[in-house]
Amino acid sequence: MNSIKKNVIVIGSGIGGSAISALRSSRGFKVTVLEKLDIIGGRCCSRERDGFIMDLGVHTFSMSGAGPLGEVLRRCGIDDSNVISWSYTRNPTQKLCYQGKLIEYPRDIETLGVSREEFSRVMGAVISMPREEISALDSVSLMDWLSSLTSNQVLHNIFAYIAELYFIATIWQASAGEFIRSMQIQAQKRASGYPAGGCRVIPQAYLNVLADNGGEVRTNAGVKRIIVEGQEAIGVELESGEVLKGDIIISNVDPGQTFLKMVGEENISGDFSEQVKNIKYTPGAYVMKFALKKVITREKFIMYIPCPDVTDYLHRLEEGEVPEKVNLMIPVISNFDPGTAPEGHQLIIAGSFPAIEPKWDAWRRAVLNSVKDVFPDIEDHVLFIEETHPGVVGQLMGEGGAVIGMSQTIDQIGEKRLKQQTPIKNLYQVGGEAGGWGIGTELAANSALELNEMIE
Ligand SMILES: Cc1cc2nc3c(=O)[nH]c(=O)nc-3n(C[C@H](O)[C@H](O)[C@H](O)COP(=O)(O)OP(=O)(O)OC[C@H]3O[C@@H](n4cnc5c(N)ncnc54)[C@H](O)[C@@H]3O)c2cc1C
Repeated sequence: MNSIKKNVIVIGSGIGGSAISALRSSRGFKVTVLEKLDIIGGRCCSRERDGFIMDLGVHTFSMSGAGPLGEVLRRCGIDDSNVISWSYTRNPTQKLCYQGKLIEYPRDIETLGVSREEFSRVMGAVISMPREEISALDSVSLMDWLSSLTSNQVLHNIFAYIAELYFIATIWQASAGEFIRSMQIQAQKRASGYPAGGCRVIPQAYLNVLADNGGEVRTNAGVKRIIVEGQEAIGVELESGEVLKGDIIISNVDPGQTFLKMVGEENISGDFSEQVKNIKYTPGAYVMKFALKKVITREKFIMYIPCPDVTDYLHRLEEGEVPEKVNLMIPVISNFDPGTAPEGHQLIIAGSFPAIEPKWDAWRRAVLNSVKDVFPDIEDHVLFIEETHPGVVGQLMGEGGAVIGMSQTIDQIGEKRLKQQTPIKNLYQVGGEAGGWGIGTELAANSALELNEMIE
């Protein structure tokens, strides 16, 4: 069949779904994106409230346009810097609030008891590691690898904290290979940042490419069923009963829903059905978003580690405890983009990962307690506070409110990940659950870039 005439149906407009729709439409395919919600972007969506742009989650992007998020646009023949304007975390430098002490990170690392030589040796091992050696560490835990290099408790705490931010995984579950791969490229690019207009501008930029290429995105268009005939996907049925035929169907929806509900277990083998049922998803996050009447800080990004032993902290979380103070990632969104808050106002977000136990009152207290270590009078300036917890994300996106998707733990990395290609002919998966590598949205964008090369 001539590829120009191929109809592609993409189910879901998250980063993976919108990216593949831009990439396919740029190659001449006729693409329709079907999104069940009234807004696009999936976990990378934003809404407006009282002049603030409120992201669903708490986002910064490890490589901004310099990584796969920009690469998607470049592969569509677009100069990404003309489409998305990024503000970088490095200006002013990120801060670390470590057990109550606020330092410039990594410049002042020595004040925490880590010699410059020790820090350079460990970071040097990450940054200079050849690709083949990194892949050999895919099934080794970050804790085991780091322990072979240093016993410094502060470095263990910082690496454990970064593994939480990157993969929502504990230091003993996170893959050393995936961690090093992600940190190495992040260090090379030095481009971590946030886009002007809120995180929604990224999927929107992809869907603008789709529209320019004659494709279509339909919101409030939930898919009920993927129509399979003789082991081949031929179309979809919407919740409304409408049927759309397609030559290629790409699902950005989690594999549980895609295969066990939309395709139906009767159409897949018992082995594959078991594989899908056994996928482990990342845990969720507890996020508080402070819309303030006043500008209280010039900082952009603060990492917050209150406890002396992060391993012990993570074990306590796993046992269902919510400590009085919790690790936080604190991006001050309106200092990245003043347009995300009305003039003279400020938007500060504090997210804690992983939030395992659904004790939301305890999480609310713990996050507030912790934020007040950094901004003691924050409550005096609050216009409103929004919270996002895994219950909210789960209701919208499924997967129990997972932050990312299929977890990047030692048992689910590299070759052990679910692939974009599925046992059903002409049906593909894309996003945080299929192939790819990297951090959050970049994992999903990499999944789309890989898939684009797989389809003729
Ligand atoms: C609290 C939080 C904080 C985060 N922080 C960061 C961060 O700092 N940096 C970072 O890079 N990443 C971060 N992430 C992760 C990042 O947002 C996700 O990994 C990424 O956006 C997932 O993209 P995806 O392609 O897997 O699609 P998803 O976001 O999973 O989108 C799937 C889409 O499919 C739609 N859909 C579902 N069912 C149907 C159906 N039946 N029919 C039609 N459509 C359907 C959904 O509505 C959704 O739009 C965070 C996520 C959360 C929740």
